[in-house]
This record gives sequence, C-alpha cells and structure tokens, in this order.
Amino acid sequence: MPFQTFETIIGHDSNIAGMRAAIKAGKPGHSHLFYGPRGVGKATFALAFAQVLLCKDNRDDPTKSCGECSSCTKLVAGQHPDFINIAMLEDKTRISVDQIRDLSAFLSLTPMESQWKIALIDDAAQMNSQAANALLKTLEEPPDQSILIINSYRPGVLLPTIKSRCIKTRFSGLSQDEIIQIVDKIVDSSAENIKQAVELCGGDVAQGVLLCESGAGEERGLFLQEMAALGEGDLNVVCTMSDYWSKPERFTNALLMLKAWFQEQIRGSISSNKGPESIRKWLSLAKWADEIMGQATVVNLNKRLVLESLFIRVARLRGAKF
Ligand SMILES: [Zn+2]
Repeated sequence: MPFQTFETIIGHDSNIAGMRAAIKAGKPGHSHLFYGPRGVGKATFALAFAQVLLCKDNRDDPTKSCGECSSCTKLVAGQHPDFINIAMLEDKTRISVDQIRDLSAFLSLTPMESQWKIALIDDAAQMNSQAANALLKTLEEPPDQSILIINSYRPGVLLPTIKSRCIKTRFSGLSQDEIIQIVDKIVDSSAENIKQAVELCGGDVAQGVLLCESGAGEERGLFLQEMAALGEGDLNVVCTMSDYWSKPERFTNALLMLKAWFQEQIRGSISSNKGPESIRKWLSLAKWADEIMGQATVVNLNKRLVLESLFIRVARLRGAKF
C-alpha cells in the first residue's frame, strides 16, 4: 500500500484532528494505545503520526509532514534510524521478551536525526506475558524523547496496567464507501470487482485487497447464481459446484463467500418474518458450516467433500428432495 499521510488517510478524521492538536500543543504523549477493529488503518495512522513528528522541514506547520525531507523519505522507505516497528516474527506465535528488550533499549537512546525515538508494536496482543511485563517497565518510566505506540484490535487481552498508562485512541470501523476508496487506491481493478470484494471483507481493508486481487469480486456473481440454483434439487449442480469451488485457488474465497451468504440468509429470514422455525434452521446450519469450514482450513480434510456436504444441506433446507 502506498504510504499515507494525515492528508491522504481516508476516514478517522477526529483522531487526526486530536493528534494534530496534541502535536501543536507540543504534547504528543509518550505512550499511546490505538485500538479498534482489525484492518481499519491503525498502523497506517501510526506511521503518518510518526512522519509528522520526525519531519525535519515542517516548522511552518508542525502538524504536517513535508513528505520530501530526508527524514520523511527514510520513514517511507522503512529506513528511519529513529523509528522501529515490532511485530510477531514469521516463524513465531508470539512477540517475545527479547523483542521488547530491544525496543526498550532503542527508545532509551538519544535520537539520531530528529527530536524523537518512536516505536510501534503491532499487534500488541501478540506479546507473551514476559514481553508484556518487560514493556510495563518502559511504560512506567518512559525515556524523555521516546514515543511508544501500541496497536491492537483485541485490547481486552492487554494487561490493565499497560492500558492505564497509555493515551487511548479508539478507531471506528470504516464505511463501505471508505473501504472501496482505499482498496481502489491500492488495486488496479474494475469498480464492480472492488465493490463485491469489499462487501465480503468484513471491514478489513487488507482482506478486501486480497479478495480483490484474487478476483473474488468477479467470482461472486457466479457463486450467488449457483447458490440460488441449489434449491432446484439437481445433484449435478452440487457436484459441479463442489468440484469448482474446492480448487486450491478458489477454496478460501469460497469460504468467505459462504460465510457472507449464510449471514444474508439469516438476515433475510428474520426480516421477511418467516417464523422462528426457519430462522432456527438457518442458524443451526450456519453454525455447523462455520465449524466444518474452520476445521477444513486447519486440518487436512477433503475440501471437495466438505463443500459437497455443505451444498447438499443448503439444497435440502431450500426444499430439494435428495
Ligand atoms: Zn519532512
């Protein structure tokens, strides 16, 4: 995704205004917690915030980054000596205490090029308990020129003692239109594909981008047509669909589309007043589908058979006689 500044970020207007006011007052705060739904741009916001603070050429308006000085360009390139981003390492399941010790050591050094040392932890809920306790020490006595930003979509998992020491900024979910605009900036694709992918992404921009890139939006029309045809009770449709959607390049998208489709059926049976019996049937099938789809992604189940049993149950619920 291209680097975003406070000027180009879509959404989160009040958070941007709040941060700018704090910077203008000369009090950007030592410790921040950015929390809110997954994939709405918390890390993007943290980087834009860091760019403003590290910029060397914004004396006219310290609430904006110039985007052109050596500091701004180094941050965009991921090479600023006064900024680090701590995340879970690829082969690990948690953020380790060693990573947090490195972060604390980094923050205690004098800035090399700017006024601040800035560290971002993304996602902080991935810290193990040792790491969280080590972080607490830095939070209790933050070095003078340090700024720590911790991101999380699961703030409930964080230690209360960590949360209480941070300035909290809540991020709301983005509207469908906002997500469409963001995905459109990142992916070169048709408006229809983007729209359909965004409808499936559950509010997560990164997920929307992936769905769009894999052509899920374009496939969705076909998927919906086939789901509608299931009720006609033709076993051939079940076989063709199971074959097609179980292919490795389509399976993950098929699961996402199924999830969204089940939600739609449940919403539909509630709003059309079909009675508690119908709602219960859809809920129970959706729950079963969720479990079996969850298993299919972690265990090596036969994907074709998983889809076949799912499609048969959907067809039966719609009145098919087989
Ligand atoms: Zn600059």
